[in-house]
Amino acid sequence: MNTRIKVIRSPRAMQDACLKLRARGKTIGFVPTMGALHDGHLSLIARARRENDAVVVSIFVNPTQFGPSEDYLKYPRPFSHDKDLCRAAGVDILFAPGVAAMYTQDHKTFVNVAKMSDVLCGAARPGHFRGVATVVNKLFNIVAPSSAYFGKKDFQQLAIIKNMVRDLNIPVKIVSCPIIREPSGLARSSRNRYLSDIERDHAQKLSRSLSLARRLITRDGISNPARITAEMASIIKTIPGARIDYIKICNPETLEELKTIETRALIALAIFIGKTRLIDNCIAIRDVVN
Ligand code: AMP
Repeated sequence: MNTRIKVIRSPRAMQDACLKLRARGKTIGFVPTMGALHDGHLSLIARARRENDAVVVSIFVNPTQFGPSEDYLKYPRPFSHDKDLCRAAGVDILFAPGVAAMYTQDHKTFVNVAKMSDVLCGAARPGHFRGVATVVNKLFNIVAPSSAYFGKKDFQQLAIIKNMVRDLNIPVKIVSCPIIREPSGLARSSRNRYLSDIERDHAQKLSRSLSLARRLITRDGISNPARITAEMASIIKTIPGARIDYIKICNPETLEELKTIETRALIALAIFIGKTRLIDNCIAIRDVVN
């Protein structure tokens, strides 16, 4: 276990430390987060630890990716517990800048990944992925990672970042990591702590509806997305107080909605349970002999 974790708050100091590591030929594995760390984040950190000489984790609740009516101010910030978790996980550097250090008052440069940013979560959260792509680009410039680790839990974010890295020739390898779930099937999320016990119990139905959809595609060979999303919606509608933001079946690369499922399909949903918006997804592969 690495007991000597270093906390850096200044982007300039972070950049200096990372450029020195790279100049010495060290690989840097980078895990960007907004903190309130859980087993999902820790799985990314463990993989970065296995695959690199040095591991950097960032904790930054990025204001530019929150809409005016979203939970930016009340987003959980248990910094000292997060730091303990990072130390126990063998993180070398924890980068935790303040907002003023990341965004000067006259900040005016943003990154927009066209088309992919306005669908799925982007439809209900205008500007969200512009904020995500911008901050991830800034973090890549500060940390200069060899590899960066992202969870498939935020599938759209991952797809957008892969496109940004390709389009802008950013020299980093993007590593996609599996979704970590609670025993009930609920995908781990920093926002799960907003759920009451009863809401948490109901939230299992999100992953159950995804499993059903995957069975309908892989086992029964159903190719009509509308038929599958209707079955999923009928499960979700049994949750008291649930509101469907979207349930969609898309091309996993382009995120375009599929009219018919041929081979690989992304099944993605965003559901409000009470005031908490939860997202989840899975990939289904339809057997062409069906
Ligand atoms: P966040 O702190 O929510 O911005 O997430 C930071 C990173 O952790 C992102 O790459 C997420 O996709 C990833 N992540 C969050 N939850 C999970 C999970 N349940 N399983 C795997 N990765 C996750």
